[in-house]
Amino acid sequence: MLKFVNIGQQNPPKREIDQRKEDFNEIYREFINEKAKEQSSRCSQCGVPFCQVHCPLSNNIPDWLKLTAEGRLEEAYHLAQSTNNMPEVCGRICPQDRLCEGNCVIEQSGHGTVTIGSIEKFITENAWNNGWVKPLEIKEEKKESIGIIGAGPAGLSCAEELRKEGFQITIYDRYDRAGGLLIYGIPNFKLEKFVVQRRTDILNKSGIKFIQNFEVGKDSSLKQLREKHDAILISTGVYKAREVELPGNNLKNIFSAMKFLTASNKKGLGDKVELFENGTLNAEGKNIVVIGGGDTAMDCVRTAVRQNAKSVKCLYRRDKENMPGSAREVANAEEEGVEFVWLTSPKRFIGTNSIESIDVNKIKLGEPDDTGRRKPVILEDSFFNIKADMIIKALGFDPEDIPTLFGEKKLKVTRWGTLKTNFDTLETSIPGVFAAGDIVRGASLVVWAIKDGRDVAKSIMNYLNSIKKKKVA
Ligand SMILES: Cc1cc2nc3c(=O)[nH]c(=O)nc-3n(C[C@H](O)[C@H](O)[C@H](O)COP(=O)(O)OP(=O)(O)OC[C@H]3O[C@@H](n4cnc5c(N)ncnc54)[C@H](O)[C@@H]3O)c2cc1C
Ligand code: SF4
Repeated sequence: MLKFVNIGQQNPPKREIDQRKEDFNEIYREFINEKAKEQSSRCSQCGVPFCQVHCPLSNNIPDWLKLTAEGRLEEAYHLAQSTNNMPEVCGRICPQDRLCEGNCVIEQSGHGTVTIGSIEKFITENAWNNGWVKPLEIKEEKKESIGIIGAGPAGLSCAEELRKEGFQITIYDRYDRAGGLLIYGIPNFKLEKFVVQRRTDILNKSGIKFIQNFEVGKDSSLKQLREKHDAILISTGVYKAREVELPGNNLKNIFSAMKFLTASNKKGLGDKVELFENGTLNAEGKNIVVIGGGDTAMDCVRTAVRQNAKSVKCLYRRDKENMPGSAREVANAEEEGVEFVWLTSPKRFIGTNSIESIDVNKIKLGEPDDTGRRKPVILEDSFFNIKADMIIKALGFDPEDIPTLFGEKKLKVTRWGTLKTNFDTLETSIPGVFAAGDIVRGASLVVWAIKDGRDVAKSIMNYLNSIKKKKVA
């Protein structure tokens, strides 16, 4: 270990730009065994590992790096898996620059961080290849059943943790495939779908029951589900697209990011997608303008590039330094030919039936607001016009109105519309009904959804045990 002094930082190479623009495959190549060993040996084995402190799952990073450097890969996998239900997903798509890697001590001392995410991915891919990832072995079946609404990372992680203890788990999801945004939001070039499907298959083989195409609020009320199960978890994510109300909003070919991305992901999965087939949701040959500066916007612009758009522009109201999206993803988009129009905001959509162009205001950054970020201020009479055949709005997501949808007015929400839960237990205002993931936090990250799923599993177990004790007494 401690070889950072002599061994430089290396990431797995990216595929050539021209090649990667031609398909939707992941852009990073795999580490080979020797490279993963070498890169792991750069870790300085800090007494207080800041990488671990800044990983939401408190992954035992220094220990699995040491095991990898020593070639003890099966042990490294078991350790990585013990705190993370999807290490191969986090290794690929966590914004490591803001989490573990951004806080690595050797990064701070100018040597370049240990490439933690890539090594986490390597360890887990190697485990899959060697058959070390196996369905759970249940020591003792329990009769209590838990109904989980939503098969995204929060629901799946909770399901796995409860199933390990022998509980009976049914997951309900309104999509036709399990995985939530890992399947229908995040594009293949960041996370190939087989990675997610492999995980859900193994959960299925572990005895977790999946009921797809089942929408709570339509196919059943929350009350009906509560009658079937001893406890309920709501992990439905946030899906209401934030809007920008502008003149021309009703013109054709203005879409929300999820509509565009879901169509593309379904197509990639081999589904027939009529709106893609007939060209409506296909960027090919078109001038595309994406509004927004977060990770969703980056996924939209890069998807449009791969669909052979004529031009792809991204409008963002602040500058590059103040973008919310991961710096790594912005760099990837720039490499792939996306044009960023910094310090601009849309003023009006223009067209007869369909969108033809967009007027945009120029912006200057003013004083910092309550959040500490400098406020965008429109420069009067500064607007200019950009040609557009398709507009994609990627302005973030809000929660749907869950109490109304689920027919359960007793379910309390916060002023942001997220579900109100007890801070320690994640129990909602209805006893025995818990909530986790984006529907509690608001739009966040996969790693936080996994963390919440693991935490809420413990609370559900405590709740079920306390009920059992009451019955005995
Ligand atoms: C385009 C995009 C890109 C992203 N990129 C990244 C990234 O690179 N890295 C990262 O860490 N995070 C990323 N995120 C965020 C991340 O995907 C989410 O934070 C995470 O998926 C939240 O997990 P969840 O389980 O709470 O919800 P979700 O993943 O949203 O899953 C919720 C599930 O609930 C189901 N559901 C909803 N309502 C009902 C109902 N009424 N009945 C039955 N089922 C229902 C949905 O069908 C869905 O399957 C991205 C998000 C988007 C939109
Ligand atoms: S889960 Fe994310 S933050 Fe934690 S070690 Fe892995 S990549 Fe880093």
